Amino acid sequence: MSLDHATAATAIVRLGRRVAGADLVVGAGGNISARIGADKILVTPSGWALDEVGEGDLVVLGLDGEVRAGTAKPSSEANTHLAAHRARPDITIALHLHPPHANLLTATGHGIRLITLDHAYYVRRWATVPYLPSGTEELADAVAGALGDADVVLMAHHGCLVVSSDAEVAFERAANLEAAATATFRALLLGDTTTVCPPEYLERMQSLEAEAGGPVYGKGV
Ligand SMILES: [Zn+2]
Repeated sequence: MSLDHATAATAIVRLGRRVAGADLVVGAGGNISARIGADKILVTPSGWALDEVGEGDLVVLGLDGEVRAGTAKPSSEANTHLAAHRARPDITIALHLHPPHANLLTATGHGIRLITLDHAYYVRRWATVPYLPSGTEELADAVAGALGDADVVLMAHHGCLVVSSDAEVAFERAANLEAAATATFRALLLGDTTTVCPPEYLERMQSLEAEAGGPVYGKGV
């Protein structure tokens, strides 16, 4: 999946404002990429707050990591985005964020529980990779490997990479990851260590999706 350059740029700038507004990043943390062809991605620049990035600040990278267009320095974590897009040609958008409660629960060894229907629907395929230094090929390889069975990868003591073929779903996925972590944190404060979304919900959604041949959420279900 890929977008044309203009559509991808608009989507990235809008997502940057939304993830910053939702407190999924702090300061200049986080970065976003979108696939714009068979062998290129558009990525946010290094050192910028995501809610201050404009379309002209974005950088075009080949999937080989070469800068194809743009004057800014690409994100220091661009190699993780490149590895993700190489591993998953079906995705269009990748969000790397530092969601605070998801980071807290992962770092302290508390599993994130999917408690509501939205948590379960959007975050159902997820994985965790151990701490690896940011910007390294080791981290990029670990995340790309985990994306084989996941659309959300938690990077211990760091953040997450969330992917989708759709910008809106990517945002919902990231927002619901943090919402699930926040709900889990609050459940733990209440002394609850077991509550999760009833498994029959996802079983029902999966059978409906199998019948429909694709996502059914938001279509009156
Ligand atoms: Zn990061």
